[in-house]
Amino acid sequence: MVTTSPTLAQALAQALAQAHTLGLARIDAQLLLLHAIGRPDAGRAWLLAHDTDALPDSAQTAFLALCQRRAAGEPVAYLTGRKEFYGLALEVDARVLDPRPDTETLVDWALQVLQPIAAPRVADLGTGSGAIALALQSQRPEAQVLAVDASHEALEVARANAQRLGLPVRFAQGDWLSGLAEGALFEAIVSNPPYIAADDPHLAALTHEPLHALASGADGLDDLRTITGQALPHLVPGGWLLLEHGWNQAESVLALLSAAGFAEVQSRTDLAGHARCTGGRRPVAG
Ligand code: GLN
Repeated sequence: MVTTSPTLAQALAQALAQAHTLGLARIDAQLLLLHAIGRPDAGRAWLLAHDTDALPDSAQTAFLALCQRRAAGEPVAYLTGRKEFYGLALEVDARVLDPRPDTETLVDWALQVLQPIAAPRVADLGTGSGAIALALQSQRPEAQVLAVDASHEALEVARANAQRLGLPVRFAQGDWLSGLAEGALFEAIVSNPPYIAADDPHLAALTHEPLHALASGADGLDDLRTITGQALPHLVPGGWLLLEHGWNQAESVLALLSAAGFAEVQSRTDLAGHARCTGGRRPVAG
């Protein structure tokens, strides 16, 4: 490793300023810098307290390369290999969707409906990195959580996360609910499926993530239609189906759930105030 005297080396604060000129958000630059200096767990407060520390040349080169990749659209989570979700440190890579903070809305809602139920059975469809399933399992250790994904590669990522975090989530490969045993029943089914319309210009900015985890037919609703169509027989009476969807899809998903026979259909807003999740309940009678 090549080192220069600390007086010549760039300080951490200067490196962050340089990232800013490349157009990086401050939080992104901070996470990438912590990664480049080998202190991913140190936290942003540590960076503030050490902003006059020298950045070794090798770390500076690595940091600059990471900043350039970030500026070209790669998610920070893929560059660092990790993402914090619901207080869990997940390992993620380009085989799975980068978990979004908005999805914590879905986790909060699921925990709320499951709160009165002892040892609830929960299915997470299209689990990806395992974010939702693992968050639920970490909050409800006695729950029986099943995480389903059609992608073998995604299941590898999710399984590795479960193992590292010591969480007893079970896994199954399958297309939404079609791979489940007939008669498998849950108190709640949750999903953050792909929901972006195939021609949505927003997709152009998401080329680093698996397209099959993002796009879903002409109106973005293909997978939401499939799930709402399959879920009812897999819910106990009174059981909930809770779905994440696009910021402008709440009305469509409310209509899909009502048409499929769900009761108490309603939406929840995300951090930005968009109706981001919609759900309903299997009627108790009928
Ligand atoms: N929320 C993501 C986005 O719009 C999409 C995630 C998804 O399709 N489930 O960028």
